[in-house]
Amino acid sequence: MSKLSYTIPDSLDEEIEELELLIKKFSSGDITEGELKARRVPFGIYEQRRRGTYMVRIRCAAGVITPSQLRGVSLIALKYASGLLHVTTRQEIQIHDVVLDDLIAIVRELRSIGLSTRGGGGNTVRNVIAPWNAGIDSGEVFDVTPYAVALTSAITKRSDSWLLPRKYKIALVGSDKDAVSALINDLGFIAKIKNGEKGFQVFVAGGMGRKSATGHLLHDFVKADDIVIVTEAIKRVFSKYGNRKNKHAARLRFLWKTLGKDNFIQSYLQEREQLLSEGIGKLSVQSFSYEPKRVLSENSSSKSKGYELWKSRHVGAQKQNWYYSVRIPLKHGMIHAEKAKKLADYLIPFGESVIRFSGDQNIMLRHMPQSQLETIYRLSRRVSSLTDTAVLAGNSIACAGASTCQLGICRSRAALSEVMEWLQSGDADIDSVADVKMHLSGCSNSCGQHVIADLGFYGKVGRNGQHSYPVYAIVGGTEVTENNSLKLAEKIDEISAHDLPELVEEIIADYSTKKQKYDTFATYLKSEGNDLIRHKCDKLGDIPPFSENKAYYRDWGDTEIFSLAGKGNGECSAGLFDLIDIDLEKIKQLRLKIEKDDAVKPLDLYTLALLSSRMLLITKGVEAFNESDVFARFKEHFIDEDLIEVKFSTVVKAGRESKIDDFTNLKQNVFDLSEAVEKLYEGMDNSLQFKTPVQENEQLSQKNDNSSTDLQKDFRGVACPMNFVKTKLALSALKSGQILSVLLDEGSPIENVPRSVSAEGHEIVDQQKLDNYWKVVIKKK
Ligand code: SF4
Repeated sequence: MSKLSYTIPDSLDEEIEELELLIKKFSSGDITEGELKARRVPFGIYEQRRRGTYMVRIRCAAGVITPSQLRGVSLIALKYASGLLHVTTRQEIQIHDVVLDDLIAIVRELRSIGLSTRGGGGNTVRNVIAPWNAGIDSGEVFDVTPYAVALTSAITKRSDSWLLPRKYKIALVGSDKDAVSALINDLGFIAKIKNGEKGFQVFVAGGMGRKSATGHLLHDFVKADDIVIVTEAIKRVFSKYGNRKNKHAARLRFLWKTLGKDNFIQSYLQEREQLLSEGIGKLSVQSFSYEPKRVLSENSSSKSKGYELWKSRHVGAQKQNWYYSVRIPLKHGMIHAEKAKKLADYLIPFGESVIRFSGDQNIMLRHMPQSQLETIYRLSRRVSSLTDTAVLAGNSIACAGASTCQLGICRSRAALSEVMEWLQSGDADIDSVADVKMHLSGCSNSCGQHVIADLGFYGKVGRNGQHSYPVYAIVGGTEVTENNSLKLAEKIDEISAHDLPELVEEIIADYSTKKQKYDTFATYLKSEGNDLIRHKCDKLGDIPPFSENKAYYRDWGDTEIFSLAGKGNGECSAGLFDLIDIDLEKIKQLRLKIEKDDAVKPLDLYTLALLSSRMLLITKGVEAFNESDVFARFKEHFIDEDLIEVKFSTVVKAGRESKIDDFTNLKQNVFDLSEAVEKLYEGMDNSLQFKTPVQENEQLSQKNDNSSTDLQKDFRGVACPMNFVKTKLALSALKSGQILSVLLDEGSPIENVPRSVSAEGHEIVDQQKLDNYWKVVIKKK
């Protein structure tokens, strides 16, 4: 194997055998899907949206892959998978559409070429990342690649690397200019030299997600070969004290908060001492020097049209004189395996160290001699549709989004494609803004890394009357300030998905003409960009009614009208929270307005009561037909169930009977109601339960001697995602191990609800079609 390949521990063979046995047991019905999932996900194997098909994620420490390995992965993808390879933002490579019976053959073939999927997913130590230009960057303190590879070899041989409370992400960077990556991982190392010795500044507990956080300084300097002790000690703290019950509050950044800085560091130091007493030892780093192979020069006297422009865009200098780096830009990180194989075949004669996957999902070549550039240009045109486009097209990131991600709200990849089309056909000089990092996420979870973007977006739900529509929140201004302190991108405004391309074009066009005035995009935003964005959002803010222009109610890349149905399949509640927040925001604004007004306006008070009554109905799976029905349903589900005090019945009665004038005398009551609802929402947890005990209206059915069902529900006629919310509420009334049976309609309900339920860890025991509907039997986790 290459000196830059991580070492695969012998224990992997045994683990593959165990996985093979589990797959056999699952196929013969001896274990459940949940039991298999617990084992396959830490192996980097995820089930895709289409049932029975799997994605396999392959570890590539520091984004390194040899040309022979890339060839091998391409052949595997052609033999067993869809043939499409996907480079991830963590510098791994994925293959898709694999069937269960082929999984073991794949992991064994990968092992034979020195690659592993272990830790590709689940609550494990994930792929260790490093800048794509580590080792060729003239500005780096030293090359961190050998350390990233050695660290991977050290942690993958430890069995406790696969059983953590949540994922554990590590990054190494060669200098302060790449600090962002180190500050946004669970553990980040920035190369330093002290007294002539190599070492790292260390940051801990950073991370991106719904609640992103930047890392805290753990060490100003540790010796380079001590990073394994730091990594293991932090891993032990995480394993010992991390929250294993609630995955939404499990990452290291939450533990830092829970323990507090002093306790966290104290626990870390204790684990360090313990590891030293166990004789953990130093990191064993293989020395490595780049020895590019000589490849026969080609006659490059006649240059192809477009070559010079391509060279200015995609070819860079490196610190080894006479050699160049070359970007093979990939659209959304995708390349067909046939094309990847063609590229690998060409690169094999150049040696093992010529390919890196970059964090912006491109293939980066290094050590390419001048004489080969013309040939590489022609090859790049054959393998990448973005070869003749500006750098921004290949460097912008969009997560999977709602088209394939179970949590997604908006289709971020389709939106990015649309944005790029606008940019390429518009007036903006996009070559001049190659350094702008534009990132899109399909929801607030930040897999598209919008929190560290210069200009970022994340998907949300908007509401216009009874209709919802796709929206993007706009964020920007990421910057590293003094002493490696990171300012994450902040929210600037919101725009409908429909108007997003027009907005981006205007921002980029404006920035490209003023770029000389500003050091960074963040400075531009602060000085005038934010105002431009807000002004433009204001102008585009009026969404036409559904009956007038349905284009606003359809997401990019989708022919259907936008709805939460079929989107947050695993976590419909993500979109539900958006809808609640829209009402809450209006409630707050209205309260301010009423307080400021001298004269009491009964219509404002009526609207405040209406919004307060409507806001939480969705958590009960209730859809009201009209305004009067909102009040009726609110009484039924909140007042009659003792969640809201009975004293508010007067307000609700006036609302139900549309006696708007009566509201003149109900001001205090309406204000109190809105506050009571807000307080109730604050106490609601992720499973939509309120702190006040919920008394379900529907009774548990009597346990039938002939059936093991503890509760039966009929959700026929209930649309997505309400049927999921209702199922979730029904499950919350059961104890672990009890059985719920639900009736669901054909189409989206039967496609979405069982998948969402399994994604939450419950077991689908049975699913059968009865006439024109379905009966699904669920065992509560
Ligand atoms: S849609 Fe949300 S959860 Fe899904 S990949 Fe994108 S950011 Fe992550």
